[in-house]
Amino acid sequence: MRDPSRQDEGNSEAGASGSDGRFAPSLTGPLHLGNLRTALLAWLFARSAGAGFLVRVEDLDRSRVRPGVEEGQLADLRAIGLDWDGPVVRQSERMELYEEAIARLDADGLLYPCYCTRAEIRAAASAPHGIPAADRYPGTCRELTKAERAEREAAGRPPALRVRSEGVRVIFEDRLLGRFEDEVDDFVVRRNDGTPAYQLAVVVDDAAQGVGEVVRGADLADSTPRQILLTRLLGLTEPAYAHVPLVLGPDGRRLAKRHGAVTLSERAARGEGPERIRAWMACSLGLAEAGEKPTPGDLLGRFDPTRLPREPTVWSAV
Ligand code: GLU
Repeated sequence: MRDPSRQDEGNSEAGASGSDGRFAPSLTGPLHLGNLRTALLAWLFARSAGAGFLVRVEDLDRSRVRPGVEEGQLADLRAIGLDWDGPVVRQSERMELYEEAIARLDADGLLYPCYCTRAEIRAAASAPHGIPAADRYPGTCRELTKAERAEREAAGRPPALRVRSEGVRVIFEDRLLGRFEDEVDDFVVRRNDGTPAYQLAVVVDDAAQGVGEVVRGADLADSTPRQILLTRLLGLTEPAYAHVPLVLGPDGRRLAKRHGAVTLSERAARGEGPERIRAWMACSLGLAEAGEKPTPGDLLGRFDPTRLPREPTVWSAV
């Protein structure tokens, strides 16, 4: 698994060069202006460096995928002027790749079954001793004996699979956030319904697709140490990271449906077409003056990652 010769295997997909950029939306609903601005930034990072740009839809969580959403998302990306290379990749069509990665981790003794329910994890996390942060796994199932496992299996509890992280601290240098460091917990790589977890799928895909720099919203920076650990355990090439500032609603929370008309079609219904939205995005990123209507080509010519704002933008109608 840690045999460096396997790295090539991870980069074996057609066109994989190790330098591409990507946008990887979840199919849970239409893209809002924050998602679209992140997509624009990911495209600008890649295209301004002469790199390829890929779109991958993250549709593993079948219970949250809604029909027609993919088509709508792709239409919105095109409407704001983005293009991409090759066919759109769907995670639901790549189960074998994820299963193979899970099998490799398992063969190296790096996984263990976890029978905990969410409620149990929450309860353990708020216990007075040890006080792990609420979203960290407290290690309950890490050292179960065979008999204890059999007991839980007999009770009909399907296990998730967690990685033995050994509490390792991962440090990385983010292009925008700078040095970022966190201790990694024993996180889930396969959910108890058999679905590969986001953390695993994203690592496998970014390596297989030859992604050189992961550009995505700053809300995902907390996941990155976990993903870097998995990249290392699988012997894959680590991409660079740039976590870009989010768009927030007027209440200071991450932009979402509850903030009103925040999708391209909702804005269009108010008379604001995609060019106007692109102009707003460009303005909010310091890439255009108010009243200008820059083309994607104009933005490429002006884009300088070192001059991007580091603070989130609060959405207010254009
Ligand atoms: N699918 C994730 C989202 O829509 C993004 C995953 C990623 O860029 O790594 O938030």
